[in-house]
Amino acid sequence: MTTQRDRIDIQLAGDTPATESAARVEAGVVAKGAGEGKMNLFDLDRASLERFFEETLGEKKFRAHQVMKWIHHRYVTDFAEMTDLGKALRAKLEASAEVRVPQVVFDKASTDGTHKWLLGMDPKNAIETVYIPDKGRGTLCVSSQVGCALNCQFCSTATQGFNRNLSTAEIIGQVWVAARHLGNVPHQQRRLTNVVMMGMGEPLANFDNVVRAMSIMRDDLGYGLANKRVTLSTAGMVPMIDRLALESDVSLAVSLHAPNDELRSELVPLNKKYPIEQLMDACVRYALRKRGTSVTFEYTLMKGVNDQPQHARQLLRLMRQFDNAVQMKDAAKVNLIPFNPFPGTRFERPDDAAIRAFQKLLNEAGMIAPVRRTRGDDIDAACGQLKGQVMDRTRRQAEFQKQLQARGLGNEAA
Ligand code: SAH
Repeated sequence: MTTQRDRIDIQLAGDTPATESAARVEAGVVAKGAGEGKMNLFDLDRASLERFFEETLGEKKFRAHQVMKWIHHRYVTDFAEMTDLGKALRAKLEASAEVRVPQVVFDKASTDGTHKWLLGMDPKNAIETVYIPDKGRGTLCVSSQVGCALNCQFCSTATQGFNRNLSTAEIIGQVWVAARHLGNVPHQQRRLTNVVMMGMGEPLANFDNVVRAMSIMRDDLGYGLANKRVTLSTAGMVPMIDRLALESDVSLAVSLHAPNDELRSELVPLNKKYPIEQLMDACVRYALRKRGTSVTFEYTLMKGVNDQPQHARQLLRLMRQFDNAVQMKDAAKVNLIPFNPFPGTRFERPDDAAIRAFQKLLNEAGMIAPVRRTRGDDIDAACGQLKGQVMDRTRRQAEFQKQLQARGLGNEAA
């Protein structure tokens, strides 16, 4: 369990005394940008950081590489500590750049090892990030937006509405906070082996920032994750799936949840714009761009809604069509997610027997369909529950404020 002292350390990410930081938060400076006009280096992937060094600072490219290692491998954000950079360069960086870390409002550990952070991005917006350790892997579930505009009926983020996109810095900042807490050392001590863009928000609706952040996740000078180990999950923004195929190379997951348009349009309103046939075609194009690519289809099981044998059969048909179009067996992977309830929802989780029966129908037809175990539900960190704490905006704001107050960092503006 992280102590209060640790949390403050994470938040400050350096030697700034608490009082000074408090004053800066009070003035709304930290959250808005400790140095207005300064470039936040968390916003830059390797290509843009190299450009910044060459064009803005008049320095060699390899200096950018050194700085990336300091930030993402050693968690150093204070230029003064970057000892292999000359004094003059450190001063130049100090004047024009900063590495601004998200504020850890609080973090919680589950009894099963799952860990959740509430990160304040500005005085009015906080998001959640969840770490899920499992045999031989550690997966971080990262948010892409504050809230979400898609209004999927069974997802608690939807009830919160949409506030804004997260910047590249705010997305990679989540990875930085978790990796630092875990003592992750890329290429050596890997505590963080996978990232799933399955937190709050629709990542394809915040395309550029998400793609840039995913590039830092996969960069050897960043977190060194293999392409396959970074997964983007979408509710089905068809044109953006095609753009993703052109501009990035990551694993694709699609939130299907229903095997026919009538039901899917009800559960995932985006389906009215991009119905299942168009969505599946986009997935086929994505898979065909590179041999051996599979696509994961997420299917949240809701009692009496989409958990009946006819739904399993329709789902099977869709998955077979996909395999045929891609000409690869098991190109379509199904992930069954038992519905996680949240206050005010009209949906329920099917009982275990119904979940097993649904799975068995798929298995008997030769389809592997793991049921995703519920993790971290004692800290409201399970799929779609992430927002349990934040669903009620007033409660979330109150909690955020309480945490700040407790450390003497209260802010009238929030
Ligand atoms: N907008 C993206 C990213 C969110 S991913 C997407 O839709 O894919 C979050 C995953 O958890 C999605 O598959 C989502 O449909 C699922 N989910 C949302 N609410 C849930 C709930 N209450 N119980 C179980 N799964 C849920």
